[in-house]
Amino acid sequence: MSDKIKYINSANYQEAISSQPLCVVDFYSEECPPCEALAEKFEPLSELYGENVAFYKIFRQENRPLAESLGIKGSPTLVFYKNGEQVHETMTGGIKRSQIETVLDSFLPSETVIKIKSNIKTTVTECDVAIIGGGPAGMSAAIYSAQSKFNTILIDGALFGGQVSTTHQVNNYPGFIDAVPGFMLSHYMSEQAKKAGTHFRAAVEITSVDLEKKEILIDGVELIKAKRIIVSTGSSPRKLGIPGENEYRGKGISYCAICDAKYYEGKNVAVIGGGDSAIEEAIFITKFAKSVTIFHRTDTLRAKKGIQEEAHENEKITFKLSHVPKAFVRNSDSSMTIQLQEIHQNKEVSYNFDGVFLFIGMLPNLDLFPNQFKLDELGYIVTDEDMKTNLKDIYAVGDVRSKKYRQISTAVADGTIAAIDISKELK
Ligand code: NDP
Repeated sequence: MSDKIKYINSANYQEAISSQPLCVVDFYSEECPPCEALAEKFEPLSELYGENVAFYKIFRQENRPLAESLGIKGSPTLVFYKNGEQVHETMTGGIKRSQIETVLDSFLPSETVIKIKSNIKTTVTECDVAIIGGGPAGMSAAIYSAQSKFNTILIDGALFGGQVSTTHQVNNYPGFIDAVPGFMLSHYMSEQAKKAGTHFRAAVEITSVDLEKKEILIDGVELIKAKRIIVSTGSSPRKLGIPGENEYRGKGISYCAICDAKYYEGKNVAVIGGGDSAIEEAIFITKFAKSVTIFHRTDTLRAKKGIQEEAHENEKITFKLSHVPKAFVRNSDSSMTIQLQEIHQNKEVSYNFDGVFLFIGMLPNLDLFPNQFKLDELGYIVTDEDMKTNLKDIYAVGDVRSKKYRQISTAVADGTIAAIDISKELK
């Protein structure tokens, strides 16, 4: 731990924050993966900013009344002070290095910032296996690779877990008799990867990736050189691409039921889509909403029969088939109007809801690797059965890979295969 970071408590808090012109306080907890991810950035930043900024840590659980009086409800939370006065909004969750730098820099004279930045040195870390993406596929690869004693680094732009961490309940992952909450399943996987010896780089910015040299630059300051790279960047929600969608994202339009369904207690909600996700998430949303109307563009749902039956039996759910969404409009009372084309009668219709959830499939996350991989017709990375891509020593696993079935268990299988194949090669 850097000498620059000082541990404080409720008794000396006021004195600490007032004694330095600029300071940042980390309210942390134990056994808290996002706190650990932050700690790895906090320490080098404290060295970098030197005498210009004071870096403090305070154990939230032992200083609860203080934390609560400051409105702090989770760990880690960063609070910034200038001349003893709180400045800027607090930060919480998967906090990135650049976010902290941006805030600190905004309160320092520009010549000081230039001097500080001139001291940044890129460090080089060598490893056997670098894995980009910390969902089930990446974490499984990490578990196998680290258990085989390969120096393994798992990198993620967010906190680990991928989509599974925002899945309400997983009821088909082998080994769990009852449904397991998605965030718990991903937590078990990341703890297992950590115990195996995986080195984590969580909530980082992947500045650049050179797949030919097998080099990954993280936060602009750490160059990771690997013998093999596994790409497990997963996929993200597909967009409808219709007027109002981008504008009202987070303001009535959501792509994550577990994140946002709680805001619709007793409200009327629409779900768009006809696949497993749409129907499963609609069922979940009925725990909160008064009603859920599912709009699907054809007459036939794509979702598994069992899930469809459950939805049909749910009194809160109504289906509107053969409705193609055309636009979203937000009303002055914050409700959303969906404009749709009804196919059979070929007429425009519109309905009002308190909120709209979109689940219309996923698209592979490939922004880090433009035009480098051989892709299938849907844009997913083509691999052989050992998960090797067209690029030497580069593997792809999980939802980013071209395949027919995308499940947690198939992602885990991909990661396992890639790690075993690499272990044979590197041996
Ligand atoms: P899917 O691709 O399976 O379904 C997408 C749905 O959205 C389809 O019904 C599709 O309609 C509709 N859609 C696509 N584009 C548009 C558009 N532009 N306008 C209107 N509707 C549109 O995606 P999911 O996310 O549901 O599932 C992805 C994968 O994950 C699947 O393999 C699924 O089986 C799996 N999954 C499994 C679960 C489980 O087993 N528990 C849970 C959730 C997902 P159309 O049918 O007409 O093409």
